[in-house]
Amino acid sequence: MTFPLPPNATIGLVGGGQLGRMSALAAARLGYRCHILTREVDSPAAQVAHAVTISDYAEPGSLRAFAAAVDVISFEFENVSAEGLDLLASLKPVRPAPSVLRISQDRVAEKSFLNGAGAATAPWLPVGSLEELHAAAAALGLPAVLKTTRLGYDGKGQRTLRDPAEFADAFAALEPKPLILEGFVDFACEISVVIARGADGAMSAFDTVENRHRAHILDVTLAPARISEEVAAAAQAIARRVAQALDLVGLLAVEMFVDAAGRVLVNEIAPRPHNSGHWTIDACPASQFELHIRSIAGLPLPPTVRHSDAVMRNLVGPEGIALWPGILATPGLIPHLYGKTEARPGRKMGHVTRLFPKGALPGEFGVQAALEVTKQ
Ligand code: AMP
Repeated sequence: MTFPLPPNATIGLVGGGQLGRMSALAAARLGYRCHILTREVDSPAAQVAHAVTISDYAEPGSLRAFAAAVDVISFEFENVSAEGLDLLASLKPVRPAPSVLRISQDRVAEKSFLNGAGAATAPWLPVGSLEELHAAAAALGLPAVLKTTRLGYDGKGQRTLRDPAEFADAFAALEPKPLILEGFVDFACEISVVIARGADGAMSAFDTVENRHRAHILDVTLAPARISEEVAAAAQAIARRVAQALDLVGLLAVEMFVDAAGRVLVNEIAPRPHNSGHWTIDACPASQFELHIRSIAGLPLPPTVRHSDAVMRNLVGPEGIALWPGILATPGLIPHLYGKTEARPGRKMGHVTRLFPKGALPGEFGVQAALEVTKQ
């Protein structure tokens, strides 16, 4: 198969969650089929896909069969083993490349790469032992954030340390080792940029957005971020620089902090569609999911213009899903549900978006009011 992928080609997606579901829906609109590789029976992505392989991500026989059935492979899930990735890449084009995934899978590799590419981060040091934790805290100061280098997401695998008395417990509790200690960023806000890059090096990035978390999980995204033009432009420049340095083919989300001095520090990168880009489905002619599919399929990247401002809220766990009837009954709320049968606490079940005329994103009270749901 050659690029650009012709209509009816099959895109293999590793991971069966909502990001895969929304990528598969975008792929279908462009005339492609999606084949999902997931461990989960009845996954959100498989519900809307052409085919599914249900298997462990490290099972060589399943990976071979999956690769044989598809024309290009991409990801919505990053915790695939390095060996699994290499096997897939030996059989079919993997976009983004395994080298990009390896960087994003390991916070030490990620921060070394970012700093090497000229992108500032919080100061950090690797921590392999309790002695190293004491030395790192002495060098970076307190408070500081101790994190696992691998397998952390939504605030899992991290502790904020304020006192050396907490070190032994935190070090013992965080798994898997090794760990990383980061200086605490007293941020003014958190922002992100989602950028696509094609095999020809062309890039297209969505506007810089502002993200608010609740219990370590993304709660609300405001598009655009309410930051100065200079800060927004700095974030865009960082995203471009990182995408280029990675030699990315595909989609990348860059999560950043803005500190009190207006400096932009990268927190982490994810080479896949991102929760902070869901607003693009409703506020842009081509969403992050369409750009994901276009970039891996070798299609031209459309401009990422925003026709509206937007506020997006995640529907998390049982409390989130309880709002669903009210959301459907509230004019102006655009509903998205991911097809998950069980609403466990902390699980992302869906999201809602509300659009505003461009330039008319409301102030703080307006944002809260915009997301209020009609009582049922
Ligand atoms: P992460 O798992 O690295 O995405 O971190 C999850 C959230 O924890 C971030 O979105 C921040 O709100 C907070 N956080 C992570 N690292 C730091 C840091 N170095 N300083 C302050 N807050 C942090």
